[in-house]
Amino acid sequence: MKYIGAHVSASGGVDQAVIRAHELEATAFALFTKNQRQWKAAPLSAQTIDAFKSACARYNYSSAQILPHDSFLINLGHPEAEALEKSRAAFLDEMQRADQLGLTLLNFHPGSHLQQLDEETCLKRIAESINITLDKTQNVVAVIENTAGQGSNLGYRFEHLATIIAHVEDKSRVGVCIDTCHTFAGGYDLRTEADCVATFAEFERVVGFNYLRGMHLNDAKSALGSRVDRHHSLGEGNIGKTVFSWLMKDARFDNIPLILETINPDIWKDEIAWLKSEQHAG
Ligand SMILES: [Zn+2]
Ligand SMILES: [Zn+2]
Repeated sequence: MKYIGAHVSASGGVDQAVIRAHELEATAFALFTKNQRQWKAAPLSAQTIDAFKSACARYNYSSAQILPHDSFLINLGHPEAEALEKSRAAFLDEMQRADQLGLTLLNFHPGSHLQQLDEETCLKRIAESINITLDKTQNVVAVIENTAGQGSNLGYRFEHLATIIAHVEDKSRVGVCIDTCHTFAGGYDLRTEADCVATFAEFERVVGFNYLRGMHLNDAKSALGSRVDRHHSLGEGNIGKTVFSWLMKDARFDNIPLILETINPDIWKDEIAWLKSEQHAG
């Protein structure tokens, strides 16, 4: 079964995100459980948690179909001790919020070395951050997103994801989310079916599909290997539609949230309908 949706707004409360997903006829969704540009948020109230859970039950979303995303401020590989502690505390809070909402995944960007650490040291630091957090929480899987590699962001090579996973102690609670735009900007071609086959064979060889817990479906305004993160609507960018229709027919992408972060929310409903139709198209 393919779970297809978009990163919807949680403005007005996290339960409103569920209603927005339902209105898009989505079978998956992503959301922020707090303002993604602020460090602190009020704890989730019992009332908010109840409203979210009952909306999920009413509109038939299980935790396998929901991929919360953490704050953009968090850097789990931060070179400086104080800032690292602040990020780890915020990440722990995000994991706890996800658990309180009955969710089982938390998607996050691995981290940045800020030109102060070598890649290997930074990747190990990210893994240590994950270990510390997993020790203090339960139920929720830490889902590392591959990045476009903009600035000093790590995670743009499949090897980066593999190195982090190698240093995580509890392998049952770590996974990855592959963003098609980031993959392409990171240097992996996805324009033809042959490119898709080769890129995901490389993913299987280096990381493994057993760790795949979600996908972000985005076309790219940026060029192949540009290390620039600019999303586009499906079929409007430099990747084109082939990869998305290819993904819809491949069972390795079943039963995980497939999330649009494309730039025009007004056409999300059409993009979701098109993706659904491609599952069975010849
Ligand atoms: Zn993404
Ligand atoms: Zn992006």
